[in-house]
Amino acid sequence: MKKSVMLKKTTYFTLTITLFLCSASTMAQSIPLNKLTGQFDEKQDNSFIALDSTLLPVNKKGMYLQKEPTQQLIKAYQDFKKIHPDIPFTIVSAMRNYNYQNGIWQRKWNSLTNQFSQPQQIAEEILKFSSMPGTSRHHWGTDVDITSVSSDYFKQDPKGKILNAWLQQNMANYGFCQPFNEGRKGGYLPEEWHWSYRPIASQYIAQYKAQLDSDPTKITYALNFAGHDKIQLEALVKEYVLQVNKNCY
Ligand SMILES: [Zn+2]
Repeated sequence: MKKSVMLKKTTYFTLTITLFLCSASTMAQSIPLNKLTGQFDEKQDNSFIALDSTLLPVNKKGMYLQKEPTQQLIKAYQDFKKIHPDIPFTIVSAMRNYNYQNGIWQRKWNSLTNQFSQPQQIAEEILKFSSMPGTSRHHWGTDVDITSVSSDYFKQDPKGKILNAWLQQNMANYGFCQPFNEGRKGGYLPEEWHWSYRPIASQYIAQYKAQLDSDPTKITYALNFAGHDKIQLEALVKEYVLQVNKNCY
């Protein structure tokens, strides 16, 4: 009798320890650096899905997102269309990996070298509208641009105004936040079109911040885009990655 109680206790103890170790390892599990900086091929990653295979309208082929944000975005799209069947709700940008972003950066860098003498000025000019490769939220597969990338569309066009009002009022119900809202000190200009799937993106930004706080060179060392060694890289990375809507943390 005594022996069986002992056995039960031992089993229970082992189970408790196992559960504890499992949850500790989940907590310690971190997002690899290459996932934070978009240095991988989303088309080969099975946590991603091709938007072409879903019912979401897109403005170009070959865009990908992580699966969970895609499912939630589809729900948002369907609910929007029930009320506003004639107003466009189109995905115009989703996952953009490092190489893709680097192409954008390189083109802009080349075209601005004649206008500005200081590399820092060129970077700041590009950063009004585009991210440094390795620092874009689009690298995470959690963020999308919807319908237009013009503030005028969302503020002045009648259809854009309806879309904007609906997004502002409803996207949180599907898990999305608006990282580049009005009223931040620093970072990108407001982007009414850019929405981020908070349950996953908040883990990415937490990890990014932890890395910047503990050893920023791990991140900056991975960035090799045009001008990276001629600008205040660390300060710019911190400003543009971290200066987002507090609702997105
Ligand atoms: Zn965007």
